[in-house]
Amino acid sequence: MSPLHYEMMYAGPREATLHAIIRRNFGCTHFIVGRDHAGVGNYYGPYEAIEAMEALDLGGIEIIRASEVFYCRACGSLVTEMDCGHGGEDKRQRFSGTMIRNSIERGSVPDENIMRREVYEAVASYGNPFRGGDV
Ligand SMILES: [Zn+2]
Repeated sequence: MSPLHYEMMYAGPREATLHAIIRRNFGCTHFIVGRDHAGVGNYYGPYEAIEAMEALDLGGIEIIRASEVFYCRACGSLVTEMDCGHGGEDKRQRFSGTMIRNSIERGSVPDENIMRREVYEAVASYGNPFRGGDV
């Protein structure tokens, strides 16, 4: 195992496919695709990458659909649709990678339900953690 050093292109479904092919070529047999994989803002639909990849046969790598994670006020934890049966948007606090990145870049601590303060402090300590500047 080793990290894959790669600059994000935010190309949504095309980039998700590229990620899967790279991993397949390194010998991975499964690839997990989440909500808005490699997306930016609202340019792509939240499940566009998953749907595009499920329509492809990449040969040798199985695509696994990851459910959206949200904070459930009734459960009191981060859950997915598979973990939580509480309905109603009033019980759900939704978030995205974009929302969290923007919050950290503004110097604003994300809600404690979404990110523990010590995690925020570790990420923020890198100065410009999402642009690769001071790492
Ligand atoms: Zn719940």
